[in-house]
Order: sequence, then structure tokens, then C-alpha cells
Amino acid sequence: MLKTQFRFCITGFTLPCSASAGRGIGREFWFVILTLMSMVMLTPTSTVAQDAAVSGKKKIVVCSTTQIADFARNIAGDQWEVKCVLGAGQDPHSYRTTVADSRDVAGADLCLENGWNLEGHGWMRTLAEGSQRPIRTCVAGVKPLRTEDATGEVKDPHAWMDPENAWIYVKNIRDGLSEIDPENAELFASRADLYRYQLKSLKVWIDTQVNKIPLQRRILVSHHDAFGYFCHAFKFQARSPQGWSTAELKGVSPAKQQSIVQMIRAQGVKSIFIETTLKQEMIAAIAKEAGVKIGGELYSDAMGVKGSAGETYIGMMRENVLTIVQGLK
Ligand SMILES: [Zn+2]
Repeated sequence: MLKTQFRFCITGFTLPCSASAGRGIGREFWFVILTLMSMVMLTPTSTVAQDAAVSGKKKIVVCSTTQIADFARNIAGDQWEVKCVLGAGQDPHSYRTTVADSRDVAGADLCLENGWNLEGHGWMRTLAEGSQRPIRTCVAGVKPLRTEDATGEVKDPHAWMDPENAWIYVKNIRDGLSEIDPENAELFASRADLYRYQLKSLKVWIDTQVNKIPLQRRILVSHHDAFGYFCHAFKFQARSPQGWSTAELKGVSPAKQQSIVQMIRAQGVKSIFIETTLKQEMIAAIAKEAGVKIGGELYSDAMGVKGSAGETYIGMMRENVLTIVQGLK
């Protein structure tokens, strides 16, 4: 708006003068121009501050997964706008980025990825680097659980499933926001401190809940290895036919499915679980063959839709634990 009015002022005063008048106009001309510029700048309808508000000057953080976006919202408050590439129920391993994702990332002041190839073939990093936007990796500082696939040993990327690791994500997000926006660093730190209390409470609550399941019955069977950190933290055995990624491995061998069926029978597993981000056919087939019930649906690589009980990280963890306890106790 300011730019437009300034142009108008110049036009208004240059029209009576020929272009060749140029320097000859001298001081008087520039005095009038500067006076009018001051008036324009002081006019309430054209203040720079208002223009900034209208054009939305909030900084933008673009997150890869729904969990990371929830952490970011808890730390950024209203100072930043939080965008997320994945939606509820979307699978990060097999996700294919869109033109709209590239556009969002190009406008980001900061990008956040999970890391350790949760985003299949590093799609979030590719987007950020393609637009030369800064990116932070949320698993930085997490002690990795190792797993294997056809390529050899890899770091299990599903680290958020342990609330203690979620705190490491939050710290990385807090530091990333503070580095780019130091004026609000104190606010980010205060919000992170509160969230840490919530994560600590969550962990204590999960401990009390899972204690309803005898140790020998703590066997968590789901579609893919999303629950390794959860199982490690709360003394479960994690078993899945798929492996750590739904994208890296092509399908599941009948032999692998059979070994899961036999394990379920041998251990007397009471329930097995489907995942919100994956089709349920394979788990349904295993349940049928092993003669075991499906204990419900677990939030694995994405949170629930807005308005659902699993729409936040704490909500998804709570609902998962309640489902698991109901199914296995
Ligand atoms: Zn996964």
C-alpha cells in the first residue's frame, strides 16, 4: 500500500514537469516530495506496521510429521505459524511430496524433519535443501535403537514413541526456533519447560497403566516396527511382520507371516493391533490364522484427525496405551 501511494505522489508532481526538467527542479521539488512521503507514512491507513500485519509477517515452520508439528505448536505458541506436510493417518515412509509441499517449504523460515530416514529417502531434507531453507533433525541427540533391513543395520527412526525421546525432539525444536527468532527465545523456553512436565507425567502414567499387564503378556504385535522405543521403555517385546519401514521392504514374505502366527500361538498372545497409517488386511489375515482377536487400532507414524482423541501427541500416546492395556491385560 505504501509503495502504491508513493508512486502516486511522484506521478502527481512529475506530470506538470517535463522529464528534461530533471535536476533543474532542485530543492523545492524534493522538499515537496519528502513532505508528502512523511504525510503518507503518518497516515493511519498506510503504516508499515499495519501492512506487515495484513501481509502476515509471522515466521513459518514447516514440519514433516504430525507429531513434530504438535511439538512445534506447543513451543512456538502464536509467535510462529506451524505447517505440516503430512496429514492425519498418512505414512511418512511411502509419502510422495507434492507441488504444494514444495511451495510451503519455499516459504519456511525453518523446516523440521524426524530424520533417520523416517521420511522415505529423506523427502523432507530434499524439499528443504531444494529451496535452500534451514532444516533441523529432531532425533539429533536420541540414543538410537538399531534394527536391520535388506541394506544392513539401520537406526530405528520411531523415537518419539518414548516420551523421554519426545523431550529431545522438543529441545531441538526449541533451539531451532530460538536461533532464528532470539527475541522470543524466553517464551519458547518457558513453553518447553511446561511441556517437559507434561511428558514426565505421561511417562509416569503409562508406567502405571502398563503395570496392569503381566510382564510375560507384554508382547506387542502390529503391522510394522513403529513401537520399538515404546516397547523398550515399557518392557514389551515388539513383533511385526513388516520390519522397520513400510517403504524400504517390498511386501512381507509368507515365511515371516507364518513365524508371527506361530509366535502368537506359542506365547498365547491375547490381541494384536492394526495401525492407523496402514491397511489392516495383513494383520486381519494373521489374526484369523492364529485365532487371535484384533485389539484395536494404534496411532503409529501419524496422529489422529482434528477432533479425535489422538489429535495430539499426548492424546495419541494415551489412546494407544488404553487400547494396548485393554487388549493384553
Ligand atoms: Zn514407521
